[in-house]
Amino acid sequence: MPSGLDVIFLGTGGSLPTRERGLPSVAVRRNGELVLFDCGEGTQRQMMHAGLGFNRPTSIFISHLHGDHLLGLPGLLQTMSSLVRDKPLELYGPKGLSSFLNALRRTLGFQSAFPLRMTELSPGASVKKSGYQIRAILAKHDITCLAYGLFEDVRPGHFHPNVARRLGLPEGPLWKDLQYGKTVSWDGRKIRPEEVMGPSRAGLKLVYAIDTRPADSVKRLAQGCDLLIQGVLPLHRDGGSRCGQGFQVQEAGSGTYQRCYKGRQDSPERSA
Ligand SMILES: [Zn+2]
Repeated sequence: MPSGLDVIFLGTGGSLPTRERGLPSVAVRRNGELVLFDCGEGTQRQMMHAGLGFNRPTSIFISHLHGDHLLGLPGLLQTMSSLVRDKPLELYGPKGLSSFLNALRRTLGFQSAFPLRMTELSPGASVKKSGYQIRAILAKHDITCLAYGLFEDVRPGHFHPNVARRLGLPEGPLWKDLQYGKTVSWDGRKIRPEEVMGPSRAGLKLVYAIDTRPADSVKRLAQGCDLLIQGVLPLHRDGGSRCGQGFQVQEAGSGTYQRCYKGRQDSPERSA
């Protein structure tokens, strides 16, 4: 049963790597599954440092086709192949990502040893996964740039062990079944999950919005989220903007943002 989201910052720099920061990539670990937002250069090495493994069910969501956000893909795919990954890898991103992938295959003669499923997303699309969904909306950059929201489904209420014991239920598989919403039979009677569980809870909501100028679409997506990871574009004298200079992370408490900080280096781990 999901107890939270582990958020691992694999790279929090922008445009150029520094000695302390890699290029953008954020991993979210949930129930043994991995979601990666962006894949800057060196992501696979950071995944090794973080002990994430290369054979988990994994989905990668690319925000936009600027090199610092996706040039880690060739290395990561090749590493996964070399390590004989066998689970499918799902890759999502804006229009043009499949051309990049095809060019990579042609140029490097690369064939993944595992099933690789590629889906281009339009703004407004959503991807349903087990227990959560990812929504893509249009952020504000010089090229098409998607901001993503990870929305968990409604979560079961808290399990009350004391109530279960009072009902005479032995600890073990029956507890687990109840926690997963199944009615169980014990001592000649049926026990429903709501007898031992608290009320359902809202799922967690995390938003990844990188390289974006202030945008109402992002503001709407981030409304009420538990964790907002954003990279704000610096404006240049020519009125244009370049890729971002790092991340800001805002964590919600009781519906209001309470803290805002800038990580000084990569790999701080936070749980939402
Ligand atoms: Zn960019």
